[in-house]
Amino acid sequence: MRIIDPHMHMVSRSADDYERARRAGIECCIEPAFWSGQDKRHAGSFFDYFEQIIDHETDRAERAAGMDHYVTIGLEPKEANYREMAETVVDRVPEYLDRDPVVGVGEIGFDGMTDDEEWAFREQLEIAEDREVPVIVHTPHTDKPEGTELIVDIIEEMGVTQERIVIDHNTENTIDISTRTDCWIGFTLYPGKIEAQSAIELLEEYGTDRMIFNSAADWDPSDPLAVPKARDMMLDRGWDREDVRTVVFENPYEFFDQSPNFDYEP
Ligand SMILES: [Zn+2]
Repeated sequence: MRIIDPHMHMVSRSADDYERARRAGIECCIEPAFWSGQDKRHAGSFFDYFEQIIDHETDRAERAAGMDHYVTIGLEPKEANYREMAETVVDRVPEYLDRDPVVGVGEIGFDGMTDDEEWAFREQLEIAEDREVPVIVHTPHTDKPEGTELIVDIIEEMGVTQERIVIDHNTENTIDISTRTDCWIGFTLYPGKIEAQSAIELLEEYGTDRMIFNSAADWDPSDPLAVPKARDMMLDRGWDREDVRTVVFENPYEFFDQSPNFDYEP
């Protein structure tokens, strides 16, 4: 069964990881721009990083594993707190949306829930709305329910198109907040975020409509095969193959197919 993993930070992964992921069924992945483990101090560092994920990673995915690799571009919340640098970066987000592998804006959202983070979040939601492209929203690690409430309030207040937004990194504590909206609901199968079994149990309770699994595989302990393993776990639990396919393929496909630049053909 083919898989789309809609959230992988492959820049921090090896060619071998691409190969293993491809062999486990991942035909296509989306790489959101995010924090690189250390705060960047210069706006120019973002632009080099954007180029790297747009060009080099897309090329590397193809070379290493014949995998389709797409990107979302945005200023993540942690570094939004360096306001002057943040303004320079956000100003240039729109021009990246024209690039071929760029299928949306993200990750954007909240980390410490500061005013500067809220400014960057609103600006970039506006850019995505204006360009009619998908958005990946990062919910914070601490005070997650409060952060998710704030995200939902801002999305509702701004009146942006909820069907083009995925609220990511949901847990048992945020699902009731996120499902109040028409946004898509992401679960990141990553140590400290949510275990595959808990995420699967939530889907058994809430259904598969608009539900998306991802690995967020990055430089910390994480697993580029998290979604294929969850697929196997769902099948082992007796799930219908079509329902499994909805979660690991159809939903992320439908979500990103809203982007004019997403031309992956299964
Ligand atoms: Zn991420």
